[in-house]
Amino acid sequence: MRIKRCGGNKRKKSDPSSVPIEKMELEAAAEWTTARLKLHILRCGLCNGRLTPPVYQFEKGFVACHKCQKALTPSSSSTPVYIRNHSLEKVIESLSIPCSHSTHGCNEYLPYLGSSIANHEKDCSYAPRRCFVKECAFKAPNGALVQHLTAEHRIKIHNFSYDVPLRVSIGRHESLLVLRASNDGVDFVLLDYFGDSSKHYNNFSVVCCSQSRPSKKIFSKLVARSDKGGELSLKAPVEQWNGFFRTTVFLVVPPYFYDRDGKIDMEVYMYVED
Ligand SMILES: [Zn+2]
Ligand SMILES: [Zn+2]
Ligand SMILES: [Zn+2]
Repeated sequence: MRIKRCGGNKRKKSDPSSVPIEKMELEAAAEWTTARLKLHILRCGLCNGRLTPPVYQFEKGFVACHKCQKALTPSSSSTPVYIRNHSLEKVIESLSIPCSHSTHGCNEYLPYLGSSIANHEKDCSYAPRRCFVKECAFKAPNGALVQHLTAEHRIKIHNFSYDVPLRVSIGRHESLLVLRASNDGVDFVLLDYFGDSSKHYNNFSVVCCSQSRPSKKIFSKLVARSDKGGELSLKAPVEQWNGFFRTTVFLVVPPYFYDRDGKIDMEVYMYVED
């Protein structure tokens, strides 16, 4: 939890024209400090909803949200039973809270108000992901998922260099490979996206599966060759989609491309485009 705190108050009350400059100075002097706060105290005392400005302080000692304040205030009353709690509003406005995946290693702090934290968590690379093996219920963030694939499912790691084609052989019913870039250590997984061997076609895509993402835009080109002479190829960017960096189109490979042993030769070409 981070709270913005300001320097001392140097306001000159006799000179109202100095206020905007002073406010700017205070903003410039603002610094972040980390504090621990029980977030439940930032809930409405009546409906228990999350407090967002405007916040109202009732004389009976509780704070309430705008909706409850409107419902409670008698329209004919001449005595106000509440005031705006501007101090608490300032605390709420200045709060940043950690990503909920901080226990998995994410260091991001984002504003308590607004949608930026929800947007970040949706695509956070530390969010636990379901294992790519269909029957497996294991969930882990990207880095631990690769470890799990290699240790538990014995998935082979193929080292490659960007801009250099890599030849691999893939079994029709074991279409999952880890591709590790020797340039920057970033892991990718080549997989049959739908992972259902009862289907007639395999649908290959490449998923980036590292905590550290490539700093430049990565493209993948997949080429599948049949021993009967056919060739299929697909070039696609590895882009953000559904919480993953991945190719969002698939190389669709029909069953007759596989040889008698149920294997296919594939060329994987990962390259950087400036
Ligand atoms: Zn309320
Ligand atoms: Zn995060
Ligand atoms: Zn698994």
